[in-house]
Amino acid sequence: MGEWGFPMDASVMFLDCPAYMDKTGSVRCGLPAEVQDRYLMSSTDGALESARIRCPRGHWFNGPIESLTVERRPALADERSATRNSRR
Ligand SMILES: [Zn+2]
Repeated sequence: MGEWGFPMDASVMFLDCPAYMDKTGSVRCGLPAEVQDRYLMSSTDGALESARIRCPRGHWFNGPIESLTVERRPALADERSATRNSRR
């Protein structure tokens, strides 16, 4: 343990849900998706930090943390910062 870089005593961890909410891929779900499982996935570059997450809307994802993390787009900065403030 400890290879995650996350506090291991935290009972629940959340990621912003990366699901697309429209067909153009410009709108993300963004709800706090609960991390239900964390594991290491083998890859050509070594072990990848992976997780299984589920958001309140019912989206499921299972894969490397990197691919589950929503990139911060400048166009969404205002909206997203407001969301973050309410979460922490
Ligand atoms: Zn979602």
